[in-house]
Amino acid sequence: MNNDLRFFNYFLFTQQSISTFEKCPLKFKKRYLEGLKWKSVISEELNRRREIGNNFHIMAHRYFLGIDTGFTEGIEGYEELSRWIEALKTYFPKTDDALYLPEYKLRMAKETLRLEANFDLLVVKKGGIEIWDWKTPGKNKAVDERLKGERLKGSLQSMVYLFVLKEQAQRVVQREIDCSNIRMFYWQPEPVSVLAEISYTDEMHEEFRHTLKRKIDGILEYDYGSFDKKLYRKNCMYCEFNWFCNNERVDFEAVEEDEDFLDQLDWDSIEELR
Ligand code: SF4
Repeated sequence: MNNDLRFFNYFLFTQQSISTFEKCPLKFKKRYLEGLKWKSVISEELNRRREIGNNFHIMAHRYFLGIDTGFTEGIEGYEELSRWIEALKTYFPKTDDALYLPEYKLRMAKETLRLEANFDLLVVKKGGIEIWDWKTPGKNKAVDERLKGERLKGSLQSMVYLFVLKEQAQRVVQREIDCSNIRMFYWQPEPVSVLAEISYTDEMHEEFRHTLKRKIDGILEYDYGSFDKKLYRKNCMYCEFNWFCNNERVDFEAVEEDEDFLDQLDWDSIEELR
C-alpha cells in the first residue's frame, strides 16, 4: 500500500482511468499504476488513424491560439485533414466577444474527488462557458450519429468534464458560474455535425458528485489480492495486455470493424499514455 500510487494526493483520476478500471482493475493497474503503454502493440492502421486524429487536435489547437497551423502536404492524412480543418474554420469563425481556450487542463482535489479534465476547447462567452470536444470520424463513417450522440451524452467523459468545470470555473473566469451557464458539445468535422449537446443543471451536478465519488472510492478500496481474471474475460480480446494475461494476441482485424471498440478506444487515451 505504501507504494500504491492510488493513495498519493498527486494521483488524479481521469475519465479514461476510471473507465479503464471498470473494464478491468488489472488493466488499470498496469496502465496507470505501473505506466505500461499501448503503443507497442497497436496495429499500423489504428496507429495511422490515431496520428490523423492527433494532427487534427494539434491544428485545431493552433487555429484557436491564432498561430500558423503548420499544415503541409507531407502530413499523414493530408486530404482528410484539409477537409476537416476547413470545416472547423467555417463552423467556428473566431469572434471578438468570446475567449477561446484550446487544450485546457483543469484539476481538482476535494477529499477523494481527485480529478483531471483535459478539454479540447473552452469558449468563454458573456452568457457562460462552453466545452467543445472533437470526435474525428472512424473508418465506418456510416455509424448511427444519433446513437453515438446518446452514448456520448451519458458518457463518463461528459460527467467528468462538466463536473470539474463547474467546480473549478473560478480558475477560468475568476468568478462562480451557475450550472445553467455551462454547456458541452461533441463536434465532428465530417460530416459536420454536433453529435451531442448537453445543458448542465444543479441536479446533474449533485448526481455526478455522488457517482464520481462512488466510483473513485471503489477504486481506492479495491483489493488486488481478490482479482479474478475470469470476471473480465470479455474485455481481454480488446486489451493490450492480452498476451501478458492469456498468451493471446489482440485480433486487430476484428476490433477495427467494431465501432464500439473504436469509440471506447479514444485516441486521447492513447496519447495520454505516450
Ligand atoms: S487481458 Fe484481460 S485480464 Fe488482462 S488486463 Fe486485459 S482485460 Fe484484464
